[in-house]
Amino acid sequence: MAEQAAFPSPHVDPFELTRAKFVLPPGIRYFDGNSLGPLSKAVQMQAYISTTHEWGDGLIRSWQGAQWNTLPQRVGDHIGRLVGAAPGQVVACDSTSVNLFKALTAAARLRPGRRLIVTDAASFPTDLYIAGEVARLTGLEVLNVPAGQIPDVLGEQVAVVLLCHVDYRTAEIYDLARTAHAAHEAGALLVVDLSHSAGALPCDLDANGVDFAVGCGYKYLNGGPGAPAFLYAAARHIRECESPLAGWFGHATPFDFTESYVPAPGIERFLCGTNQVLALSILLRALEVFGEVSIGAIRARSLELTGRFIAGTQERLLRHGFLISSPQEAARRGSHVSLRHPQGYAIMQELAQRGVIGDFRTPDFMRFGFAPLFNTLEEADELVDQIDRIMEERAWDKPQYAQRRDFT
Ligand SMILES: *Cc1c(COP(=O)(O)O)cnc(C)c1O
Repeated sequence: MAEQAAFPSPHVDPFELTRAKFVLPPGIRYFDGNSLGPLSKAVQMQAYISTTHEWGDGLIRSWQGAQWNTLPQRVGDHIGRLVGAAPGQVVACDSTSVNLFKALTAAARLRPGRRLIVTDAASFPTDLYIAGEVARLTGLEVLNVPAGQIPDVLGEQVAVVLLCHVDYRTAEIYDLARTAHAAHEAGALLVVDLSHSAGALPCDLDANGVDFAVGCGYKYLNGGPGAPAFLYAAARHIRECESPLAGWFGHATPFDFTESYVPAPGIERFLCGTNQVLALSILLRALEVFGEVSIGAIRARSLELTGRFIAGTQERLLRHGFLISSPQEAARRGSHVSLRHPQGYAIMQELAQRGVIGDFRTPDFMRFGFAPLFNTLEEADELVDQIDRIMEERAWDKPQYAQRRDFT
């Protein structure tokens, strides 16, 4: 095995090699890489290097010596390759929510005189909260419509469209090219949230004409709990747009300590405060594994995995009353599969008892992420098996599962 990892031959499944790079606890089947990606061995080592050597020995000298000063841009360009963005358009910093606030406000200000932010009513809640707040601060209103209908409601009143690329509950993929085209026809801009697509499927931001995008560092990118998120602004907008959070790290010359704010000429203008150095160093190292496989190969494998689980579900689980709420058509399906069941919460608890980890989203969505870098087809089969057995045994029917906990 060690020899294979050192000298990969064309006959070795590249995903066996990527799987071997993660520290997966024995006996655990992990279907939650879409919510918190697992630890890799390289990251374990990087955490030691960044603390002991770069911080411990290097102290403040590491801002130059260990290139802490350019981490957001370097991580950003790395993520850019995964989401189809040419260099110089992505920075890694802050949380997805904060980046969404910055991107949405910047976009809204590029379209003065228009009245509306259009978004999907079923969006991830933080996106809706942020959209509401941006609207309040910029004097706009939010119009909610089902995601698929967004292109049909656009007109001259619309400043910005905000869309999640992949629905966090159902895994439905929305068409970025079509939405960008419709937004631009109406004179509006498109802001996209890639939290459930970055690292799992091609996003082709440049090719699709997306104006701004944000996404998450701790899901398919495996950057660790609370990892920095990212922000993309298309090159054509960078010089004319402004971050609403003018902090010194977004300044053209932060270390001149000038009194007035002059934004950096490039994408760095979306930085605000001091770089999250340790978290960025870890995220950068975590991204290394993507050097082993193309995003196209990841997408193909993802469809194999989700397809296998859906086929198994159809064959063996529908009789227990499960509904498949993810699209069965491959082209419209992201990298997780959601099943709905009235006992979904209790079933997930029993699965966890058996070392099978997915998650639950209210009211009755059982969510299983299939991360091609480490999940296998055998695991997909085993998941079907375990659910089938739990239903046969009525093992979900336990009093302790009646009580819901936070953070599931
Ligand atoms: C996970 C997720 C987020 C996370 O936001 P944070 O501010 O980074 O916690 C935001 N939006 C969507 C759609 C998500 O799935």
